[in-house]
Amino acid sequence: MINKKLKKLAKNFGTPVLVMDLDVIKENYEKLVKNVKNSRIYYAVKANSHVEILKLLRDLGSYFDVASKPEIEKLLSLGVEPHRMSFGNTIKKASDIVFAYENGIRMFAVDSEMELEKIASNAPSSDIYVRISTNGMEDDADWPLTRKFGTSVDHAIKLVKYASKLGLNPIGVSFHVGSQNYRPDNWQVAIREVSVIFEEAKRMGIDMYMVNTGGGMPVKYSKEIPQIEEICDVINKSIVEYIGEDTLVVLEPGRSMVGNAGAMVTSVILRSKKGDENWVYTDAGVFHGLTETIQNIKYEVEVIGKERESKCSFVLAGPTCDSVDVMYYDIELPESTTMDDLLVLYNTGAYTTEYSTNFNGIQSPKIIFEKLFVKEEMVEEV
Ligand SMILES: *Cc1c(COP(=O)(O)O)cnc(C)c1O
Repeated sequence: MINKKLKKLAKNFGTPVLVMDLDVIKENYEKLVKNVKNSRIYYAVKANSHVEILKLLRDLGSYFDVASKPEIEKLLSLGVEPHRMSFGNTIKKASDIVFAYENGIRMFAVDSEMELEKIASNAPSSDIYVRISTNGMEDDADWPLTRKFGTSVDHAIKLVKYASKLGLNPIGVSFHVGSQNYRPDNWQVAIREVSVIFEEAKRMGIDMYMVNTGGGMPVKYSKEIPQIEEICDVINKSIVEYIGEDTLVVLEPGRSMVGNAGAMVTSVILRSKKGDENWVYTDAGVFHGLTETIQNIKYEVEVIGKERESKCSFVLAGPTCDSVDVMYYDIELPESTTMDDLLVLYNTGAYTTEYSTNFNGIQSPKIIFEKLFVKEEMVEEV
């Protein structure tokens, strides 16, 4: 049913195209609010910063996790108040901190001394939270965010103390279990580590009240995923067990807010045979939105009109003159897949168009908004 609709849209709008359904994003938002106690949602803007998505979340009352001046400017221009933004990037330009502060933002993430000093001199008295790293969870996430981000519990305690000395206001601790994480236990382990910092802070006379659990909730690609509700349950229980039930729980969903709201349609522009390998090339690739395929993200793929055909192994590649532009070296596609077929990549609403370039002069997918999933499909099946 969805494919029929996508085919029509691809005809009308051309390919590549990312079709997004705002109703799905609304459901995702409401599910999180309903399932995590005492929570506040800060949408990670980098996952998909299209204005229609930002406007919807603005109207739903969402808060926003931002990483740069342009993201802040975009939200301000849409009327989002500065107290609904958290500057969550631990690597901020000093001039961006100045801009944020002048525009009323008072909440910043840190994982180093120098970042604290930058904030203290450019955004005095602001709220800060310290990010810890989640070593050991890399294997459970398809897109790990350790090493580059966060720091040890011991160092985090030192940073809390230093922040206080610099006249800043340490309000809590954040972590990120890695994007597309498959193990709910990981949130429990991280919250237990956070509790150590809370206790030490208390001993220093600093009362913190916020745990920022980052993102990491998965979207259904090729592998099975835990239910979002299950992860929410682990968060609720761990907060009560290790921190206290009055704690403010910040969630920063990116992938899980928008991923399942989108489907990308591309056209096959060439099929070739190299030795034993069957190659299929589409009009969008690694440089045009399918960037995450080069790590571990394995999208579900179908060829419209050939859903029931038997499959064989293909190499799936993009259209540019760069050999990095290969999405999958071994993917099962219908045997007769060929030029002018429409290839759909499902659940591609997050981290696709945001990574798009116009490398080689090739246009990245446009985004259009349509009612795609859920209700209409159910009606058709009745
Ligand atoms: C990217 C990012 C997120 C979103 O993570 P997802 O796994 O996409 O939900 C949340 N918080 C921070 C600080 C991030 O950098």
